[in-house]
Amino acid sequence: MTGPVRVDVITLFPGIFESPLRESLLGRAIERGLLDVRVRDLRTHAHDRHRTTDDAPFGGGPGMVMKPEPIFEAVEALEGDGRRRVILLSPAGRRLDQRLVRELAEEPWLVLICGRYEGVDERVADGLGAEEVSIGDFVLSGGEIPALALIEAVSRLIPGVVGNEESLGPESFSGDGLDHPHYTRPSEFRGMRVPEVLLSGDHARIAEWRAAAAADKTRRNRPDLLDER
Ligand code: SAM
Repeated sequence: MTGPVRVDVITLFPGIFESPLRESLLGRAIERGLLDVRVRDLRTHAHDRHRTTDDAPFGGGPGMVMKPEPIFEAVEALEGDGRRRVILLSPAGRRLDQRLVRELAEEPWLVLICGRYEGVDERVADGLGAEEVSIGDFVLSGGEIPALALIEAVSRLIPGVVGNEESLGPESFSGDGLDHPHYTRPSEFRGMRVPEVLLSGDHARIAEWRAAAAADKTRRNRPDLLDER
């Protein structure tokens, strides 16, 4: 891939992105030009006196729904051309997993739309060809944290973003299951000892122990991953 991965985020709360995009790996990836994140304030695409971006639901019911016009305008106003994948963060979407993250990391340009309130007028998904993506089976108040989770997961797969101090190695979901347990100094802490084999220097035995411990953890915590194989 040539050039940084570009991500445009459309949100009513641009401030939420400030510190997460400034700190740590994400901050460095952006500073080094590996990732180009542009946060857009949806409100600038609302043109009435009150800059309205939501309205009551047709059919009645509680809460408000985000209007389609500002969102369409925000997406259509994005400068540049080329292939872009438009994603609407939604608890009713396809669940984000490492397979989808790998797929998204191959894209040159992602557009992330963050919902609020009761959600977004359905015509946004239909008319903009936006795929709905969920970060899990729970409901948050907005798409901003899901968008940040997606950006961070994708950024880890961009070559050069994750350095030696936090290598990609055999992470959870990179193979058939979860990562193995990790230990560091001291070798004994409050009566809990690190498994002897990890102190042995015998790399073959360590690899064997780690594979077995990872499989055991997967069976205990995520047996569904074993069923998927
Ligand atoms: N009425 C919606 C439903 O039950 O499916 C929930 C709307 S939620 C309160 C408001 C916004 O938060 C959504 O439009 C979406 O952008 C975001 N959101 C909440 N939970 C999410 C999740 N698990 N994954 C992705 N986005 C989520």
